[in-house]
Amino acid sequence: MQNFVVDNLNQEEVAKLEKVLQEKTKPSPIGGLYWIEIPENILAPIQIKHKECGPHYFAVEIGEDFISFEFLVRNFKSMRCECIAPATPAQKLFLIEKAKEIFALAGVHFHRG
Ligand SMILES: [Zn+2]
Repeated sequence: MQNFVVDNLNQEEVAKLEKVLQEKTKPSPIGGLYWIEIPENILAPIQIKHKECGPHYFAVEIGEDFISFEFLVRNFKSMRCECIAPATPAQKLFLIEKAKEIFALAGVHFHRG
């Protein structure tokens, strides 16, 4: 799984989630895209070695009716570096917990249906 996606959101839910993203994450210059910084204690060894590439982060995309959390560790400095890697199990867990927190703060149900 490369992305964790919740779709079929209504306009009100998207607006609530976006408000929380604006407060709790780092908005990018591109609309609908936010960064979640990854804490140092869960960085993979290669990312610790590449401190100069840091901070490392996850991308969150929000659209008209969906929100998507990407399981890929990125950095702000270099688009092509070996420290850009799929999330480790600990990093995945961190991102899922973050997603839950964002949904809870927004008052939007995490599990749908
Ligand atoms: Zn690097």
